[in-house]
Amino acid sequence: MLLRKAVQLARMHRTPWRSIASLERLRQRRLRRTLEHACRRVPCYQRLAAESGLRPADLSAPDALQALPVTTKRDLHARAPKDRIAAGTRPDSVVTLHTSGTTGEIEDILCDRVAIDLRGAAITRSLLHVGYRLTDRIATQTPSTTPASLRPPRVPRRSEITFNRPIEEQLAQLAELRPRVIEGYASWVEQIAVAALAAGLTLRPAVVVATSEVLTEAMRDRIRQAFGVAPIDQYSCWEVGLIAWQCRERRGMHVNADLMEVEILRPDGTHAEPDELGAVVITDFQNRTAPLLRYDIGDLAALSSEPCACGRSLPLLTRVDGRRNDVLILADGSTVMATTVLAGVMREVCGVAAYQARQGRRGEMNLLVEADPRFRAADERRLAARLAGTFQLERVRIERTDRIEPGAGGKRRPVVPLSETAAR
Ligand SMILES: [Zn+2]
Repeated sequence: MLLRKAVQLARMHRTPWRSIASLERLRQRRLRRTLEHACRRVPCYQRLAAESGLRPADLSAPDALQALPVTTKRDLHARAPKDRIAAGTRPDSVVTLHTSGTTGEIEDILCDRVAIDLRGAAITRSLLHVGYRLTDRIATQTPSTTPASLRPPRVPRRSEITFNRPIEEQLAQLAELRPRVIEGYASWVEQIAVAALAAGLTLRPAVVVATSEVLTEAMRDRIRQAFGVAPIDQYSCWEVGLIAWQCRERRGMHVNADLMEVEILRPDGTHAEPDELGAVVITDFQNRTAPLLRYDIGDLAALSSEPCACGRSLPLLTRVDGRRNDVLILADGSTVMATTVLAGVMREVCGVAAYQARQGRRGEMNLLVEADPRFRAADERRLAARLAGTFQLERVRIERTDRIEPGAGGKRRPVVPLSETAAR
């Protein structure tokens, strides 16, 4: 068992150094195998393939995947488990992961031990490629960014820091642990960085990994200042695990293209050009029990037209613009993706450690800020006017708070859209 995992990890570890042609052959083989398996053995895909006019003989064609429609979160939710599981699967081999999505709803992800091991190996690979050693002490956030069952195969010296404990307690744990790797959601890593700086605690991890949330330049700077090393950005989701990771070049993130097909689609369903922002749609090669084909995970990103200077052949995602539900609705009813623009405005504000824009009504914004005394009443007025102008909002209210609480699953979101606040 352990030997199998070690061999799997060693193989996976070398893949990013394959030639582009060799990687492409491997990918095509895995894509074809996934597609044939899903469309022959999984009821929902059998049906979708038939409805799309895909005959069994067509499944090995290079563009067969594109004949299938995109599956949204809502579609997935509506499918009964038996519709998603491959025929002949032993019931006791199905692993159900109960996860809380970004909006707090519970989703069931069905998979199997092999898929879980592969996901774990993918995380370990991403760390090994940025300087992690298997004997390193790791401080990781808990409740974790990854369900317990998905974590790297038995990292022996992993220590968990509970994110919702008082910050002094978390710092004391870190001071004792002296981890060589710190990993967690971007907002958590930044929070402990700021607290460590304020407390005069010197931590010098070799690797700092910030996952799952958009990492702004301001966050990156503060983390670098506190830990003496720039964070490594990673992009993952519950449904398929780690999607893309930064190498030490830190210019875009390498897509795990050997483990999944990542398509970037325009609203009309055609493929976006390199460097053009589009919806991230994933076909997972890892999960044979309940395959996921052309799954729209709800994020926007762009693939790079350039290879990475490091020489790894895995393609680069250059921009991940976060969740598409991070939108603000303007007074005239039009929408704007707020996360990146908001980050740009907030970068210039002094004294704000964290923020969250909540939209309670169309054309309005409540901005929660964790601010120190440098952020004065005049700054507050200026910021409100600036945001109102930038987003064409009728009203912006700034509200100070001691702490912006992370949502379900520990993720702190810069924007909570109207669709979610109004539902409460
Ligand atoms: Zn690279």
